[in-house]
Amino acid sequence: MVRAIVGANWGDEGKGKITDMLARESDIIIRFQGGSNAGHTIINDYGRFALHLLPSGVFYGHTTNIIGNGVALNIPYLVKEIDSLVSQGVPKPRILVSDRAQILMPYHIQFDTYEEERLGGKSFGSTKSGIAPFYSDKYAKIGFQVSELFDEAGLREKVERVCETKNILLKHLYHRPVLNPQEVFEELLEYRSMVEPYVCDISAYLYNAIREGKNILLEGQLGSLKDPDHGIYPMVTSSSTLAAYGAIGAGIPPYEIRQITTVVKAYSSAVGAGAFVSEIFGEEADELRRRGGDKGEFGATTGRPRRVGWFDAVASRYGCRIQGATEAVLTVLDVLGYLDEIPICVGYEIDGKIEKDFPVTWKLEKAKPVYKKMPGWKCDIRGIREYEKLPAECRAYIEEIERELGVPVTMVSNGPGRDEIIMRGKQEK
Ligand code: GDP
Repeated sequence: MVRAIVGANWGDEGKGKITDMLARESDIIIRFQGGSNAGHTIINDYGRFALHLLPSGVFYGHTTNIIGNGVALNIPYLVKEIDSLVSQGVPKPRILVSDRAQILMPYHIQFDTYEEERLGGKSFGSTKSGIAPFYSDKYAKIGFQVSELFDEAGLREKVERVCETKNILLKHLYHRPVLNPQEVFEELLEYRSMVEPYVCDISAYLYNAIREGKNILLEGQLGSLKDPDHGIYPMVTSSSTLAAYGAIGAGIPPYEIRQITTVVKAYSSAVGAGAFVSEIFGEEADELRRRGGDKGEFGATTGRPRRVGWFDAVASRYGCRIQGATEAVLTVLDVLGYLDEIPICVGYEIDGKIEKDFPVTWKLEKAKPVYKKMPGWKCDIRGIREYEKLPAECRAYIEEIERELGVPVTMVSNGPGRDEIIMRGKQEK
C-alpha cells in the first residue's frame, strides 16, 4: 500500500513528525521531489533533528529510505547528513538513491546566489540552495543524472558542453569567475565514489516492493501552495509538491497511491515572499511566532523567522483538494491554547465580492481576509490522547475546520513529539 504524506499549505505543516510517526509501521519511505532547501524537524528518542534531504524514516532500523528520481540530489550534503545522524547516535540507516536522480551541482548554488543578487529587491527569496537553477537545467536537458557518472567518456564530453554555456553567463551576465571543465569533471568523479554504495534502479525496486505488499510512504516537501502549477506562482518552489507527482518522482504507477494524508496546520505560517491573506503582524504575530512549532516559527533550513497568520480555510480547502486528500491531519493545535478567541479566515474579499475559492495569484494580492471567530479553550492540551477528552471549544475548532476542508480530520497533533497524537479514525459525514 502506498500512502503519500503531503502539505496543504505553504510548508512547515509538520509532515516530518507525521512521517516519522507513521514510518514505524512502514517498510519504505521515499522523498520524491525538492532538495535540501527545506527542512523537517523531528523530535524522537534520539533527540531533535532537522532533516533536509533524507526521508523522515531514517530513525528506524527496519526501514529502507529512498531518494527518488524527482529529487535535487546534493551528494556531499547527503553524505554529511548521514554522517551527522550517525554522530548523534542514530544507527546507520538503509538508504537507496535512484540512478535516475539528477545531481545538484556546485554551480547551481552559485547561479542561485548570483541571480538573487542580480534581481535585488525583485528576488524570489530563494534559499540559495541551487534548486531553481537545478530544475531549469533538468528541463533544459543539461543536467547530470546519477547514472551518467558511470559513463566516463560521455560525462567528460557533456561537462565540456555544459561549461561552455554556463561560462558565457558567468562571464557576461554575472561577471564572475568561469568554470574549469576539468575541475567539474573531477568533482563529479568524487561524487561518484560518495554515492556509489547507494545507487539503485528504484522503479524496479518499488515494482517488486508493491507486489510484495510492502507499506510505502511518499514524503512530500513544502505544500500545495508552493507547487509550481497550482501554487502562488511565481513565489513557488521549482518541483511539484503534490502527491500526484509522487508517482513520477519515485517511479510508481499513479493508481498505487491509495491514501493521501494531507497535513494541515492549525494556523498559518510561511517563509519567503508571496501573497498571504490571513497574515498577522506586530505584537499579535510576535506572540504566535514565539509560541509556534516546537521552538518558535523559524525556518528549519534557513533559521529565517516565518510569517504567521490565522488558519486560512480558503487556502487550506484548496490545498487539500489539489492534493486529492483522502484524510487530513491537523497539527500544532496545542500552540493556540493561549488565545481567548481564534479567528478563522473563511472567505476572501476581492473587489468588494466575497470569494470562497482560492484565486490566481494577481487576484490573491488584492484579497482581504473575512474572519469568523471561534472561542478559545484557554488551556494546555498537550498530553491528551483521546479526542473526547479535548475541551469542547477545541473540538468545535477542529470540527469547524473539518467542515471547511470537506475532508475528514483523522489525526490531531498536539505536540512535536512522536507520540503526541490523537487518533480519531474517519468520522461519519
Ligand atoms: P515539515 O517541513 O512539514 O516537516 O515541518 P517543519 O518541521 O518545518 O515544521 C513543523 C514544526 O512544528 C517543527 O518545529 C515541529 O517540531 C513542530 N511540530 C510538529 N507538530 C507539532 C505539534 O503538534 N505541536 C507543536 N507544538 N509543534 C509541532
